[in-house]
Amino acid sequence: MRLSALLAPTLREIPGEAEIASHQLMLRAGLMRKVAAGIYTFLPLGHRAIAKVEAIVREEMDREGCQEVRLPIVQPAELWLETGRWAEYGEEMWRVKDRHGRQFCLGPTHEEIITDLVRKEVRSYRQLPLILYQIQNKYRDEIRPRFGVMRAREFIMKDAYSFDRDEEGMRASYQRMYDAYTRIFTRCGLEFRAVLADPGAIGGNYTHEFMALADTGEASLVYCDACGYAANVERAEAAAPAPAAAPGPSAPAPPVRVHTPNSRTIAEVAAALGVEPRELAKQLFYWAVHADGRQELVAVLLRGDRELNEVKLKNHLGALHLRLATPEEVRAATGVPLGFAGPVGLRGVRLLADAEVMAEPSLVVGANEEDFHLRGAVPGRDFRPDEVADLRLVGAGDPCPGCGAPLLARRGIEVGQVFQLGTKYSQAMRATFLDERGQERPAVMGCYGIGITRTVAAVIEQHHDEDGIIWPASVAPYQAVVVPVNWGDAGQRETAEAIYRGLLAAGVEACLDDRDERAGVKFKDADLYGFPFRVTVGPRALAEGRVEVVDRRTRRVLAVPREGAAAAVQERVEAALAGLAPRA
Ligand code: ATP
Ligand code: MG
Repeated sequence: MRLSALLAPTLREIPGEAEIASHQLMLRAGLMRKVAAGIYTFLPLGHRAIAKVEAIVREEMDREGCQEVRLPIVQPAELWLETGRWAEYGEEMWRVKDRHGRQFCLGPTHEEIITDLVRKEVRSYRQLPLILYQIQNKYRDEIRPRFGVMRAREFIMKDAYSFDRDEEGMRASYQRMYDAYTRIFTRCGLEFRAVLADPGAIGGNYTHEFMALADTGEASLVYCDACGYAANVERAEAAAPAPAAAPGPSAPAPPVRVHTPNSRTIAEVAAALGVEPRELAKQLFYWAVHADGRQELVAVLLRGDRELNEVKLKNHLGALHLRLATPEEVRAATGVPLGFAGPVGLRGVRLLADAEVMAEPSLVVGANEEDFHLRGAVPGRDFRPDEVADLRLVGAGDPCPGCGAPLLARRGIEVGQVFQLGTKYSQAMRATFLDERGQERPAVMGCYGIGITRTVAAVIEQHHDEDGIIWPASVAPYQAVVVPVNWGDAGQRETAEAIYRGLLAAGVEACLDDRDERAGVKFKDADLYGFPFRVTVGPRALAEGRVEVVDRRTRRVLAVPREGAAAAVQERVEAALAGLAPRA
């Protein structure tokens, strides 16, 4: 490709709404342009990077024997009514009507469509296992589209669905997809971790998210380098707390009522009483909103230095979602202002306690009396929660639930997710097959997604510097650029043209900077576009019959004879690709 013809307009000004490097660089380097909130046009360089990721995904899916299909984007409401997700999916679902007033949605995902296909076309166990996939635009009317294609409203996803005869088969399919994802993200040059995750609304019970590590990631994860445990913090279990020491021969004294005027927060009470936050109990009030519309007020006790994991609470309660109770609602339910409500003598509210609370010998708790707390409240003696569960947020330094070593924490971008669905969809939609004995059984399913456009952004997030993108050779729109310092110089021009032709002949995806621009401008653009390799054809080296090969990542410059330049670049591209190849 000749850069004089390439539609890759660079931007000097970074649009204010672009907060993170990948978003800024995708605009600055002319990979994409915004059309509406969360909706983008991809220009040639953006399109090529996307196509590279798609090609890697296809290769690895096909290697596992998956079959590519193409499902409709427009999906009839009837299918979603069968699974109950027409109502469940909420505002994120992009709903449309046809001219007859029939309801459809733009597919946010395709479990319903694929299950409908399989129930009609698969009859016998002989047709299973079956894994189908597609690469296609998805539509989600995200409440807050941001970070460019990281959280878009129209984005490209690879979605795959597995159908097996039994649970064991499903687990094998899941493992195949897990392994394929590991190869895909390795080949894309991402530093990532597969973490245990919360199944959420999609159903099923076992799932991993593939997280590209990045400080700008929206997800938090914890992991253990000692035993390999890794989980999204939404899902990370707390290690079982050491049980409370048995009370000594003389039972501890009953709790003491202490005056704590205007001390409502953990910090205020701790300061007023001269104790550490961890010696307090924190009591939170939530409304659990259930699928049938029922609402229930619950109180949750945590150690004062801990945070609630709302996902754990929601799952424990089986609620559709949670809402923090207002101070007025707490007062109405307990008779005291928020901050003074406590577990001792609490009535009429379901009380849940985090397991760690019950392991404390004694705690400071609200006295259920304005301006008072109780000191020395003994869990199990002075108050008995209705339920005890693991409800707290786990963080860096906490003991690993697998082996006890201190956990490490990072932020991550969810680039993919694999799910064991079981029979949730096949039962709801009667996708059954006849087994060896002629018995009708529901197919056991899994589903597997990769955010293609988000993966491109994650690659840039991990591979850039202040000058621009540093593409891994595997996803680079072009792998090399040939830059004659002065296009007007016939010798440089002819050498550059010859090297460019040599690169194309060697199968290197190359560009030629044939623009009549200053050398500085061309070098700057080459850095911004992020070509992994640049061949500079300059007057001095050329006088000696040589050109320079510059590595974008290391900035290392190598002088090579001009006749050997194309081969030198080809060799480096191949070495770079080999470096990204997954270990066998
Ligand atoms: P998130 O939690 O980030 O909203 P999700 O868990 O809802 O994502 P999935 O249903 O698992 O997403 O979709 C599969 C993949 O599609 C995700 O792992 C992610 O890479 C990508 N993806 C999901 N939503 C978006 C979006 N709004 N914009 C870009 N990519 C997305
Ligand atoms: Mg997900």
